Amino acid sequence: MTNAAAAEMVERQLIARGIRDPRVLQAMREIPREEFVAEDVREEAYADAPLPIGFGQTITQPYMTALMAEALELRGDENVLDVGTGSGYHAAVLGALARRVISVERIPELCALARSNLRRTGLDSNITVLCGDGSLGVPEQAPFQGISVAAAAPSVPRALLDQLDDPGILVIPVGGRADQDLQVIRKKNGKISTRVVLGCRFVPLIGREGWQEIDE
Ligand code: SAH
Repeated sequence: MTNAAAAEMVERQLIARGIRDPRVLQAMREIPREEFVAEDVREEAYADAPLPIGFGQTITQPYMTALMAEALELRGDENVLDVGTGSGYHAAVLGALARRVISVERIPELCALARSNLRRTGLDSNITVLCGDGSLGVPEQAPFQGISVAAAAPSVPRALLDQLDDPGILVIPVGGRADQDLQVIRKKNGKISTRVVLGCRFVPLIGREGWQEIDE
């Protein structure tokens, strides 16, 4: 099943900008993004921009979600960690691409919102939303073959690198409060290599291995 607005978003925003992974494109045609945004911005659900989801947070721009999902090179049998659940949309995309997703959100109201969005859309069967500090990862569910972080960190959290499987891929915005680089970090044969994909602007990762709330 596809919806016309989602199909148009995939054509104009994703394929036009070079997203190629057919599984990512199909997942984003099928997942009803309008179910993950606030009712008053539902008309803009497929817009080429982040949108507010409450509590000063945003649902990530569709292109950025696609780019991050594609960077993980998922084939379908992976255990994936998603840090910064927000609306749950990105977790839903990852859930369509991997075996299982553990998604962590620090704001309890957004945990509840994401759980209800995922349940209502029937996309919750392989996704678990946990409430807590995702900068520490979820050691008891590690290792993860893919880790996706949707909030900006001052440096790469050690815990996430430790919980990344070998081989495994971590995608994370790293830099200052205002601007960051989207880094794709690959662990392979005990070695770590980092590639910067593009400049980006994410809300801050607030936690033990992120920013302190007081810096806000
Ligand atoms: N991926 C989301 C968008 C997330 S915005 C979506 O598709 O809607 C980033 C989210 O990261 C916010 O909801 C914010 O509260 C959360 N966040 C920030 N620091 C965090 C931390 N240390 N652990 C978990 N979540 C965090």
